[in-house]
Amino acid sequence: MRINCPLCGERDRREFYYMGAADYLDRPAEGDLDGIHKYLHIRENPAGVTRDLWHHEAGCSSWLVIERNTSTHEIHSVTLASEVAK
Ligand SMILES: [Zn+2]
Repeated sequence: MRINCPLCGERDRREFYYMGAADYLDRPAEGDLDGIHKYLHIRENPAGVTRDLWHHEAGCSSWLVIERNTSTHEIHSVTLASEVAK
């Protein structure tokens, strides 16, 4: 699988670290124990299109939000996480 980093261009998937669902960008408020429990422990694992957080570990060290299909490995979009969080 090849990932097109917005800063480095197309690179092999092995340069990237998979963090998990992009839900990690939506941290619950401090004191929201139920929200924190779901944030840390409850994850969907769909077959199909997902929105995930990846780190370009062996490249520019950017955090990326990648929308891809887990069944076909087709990548729909790659966006800097800093741009998504705005
Ligand atoms: Zn990069």
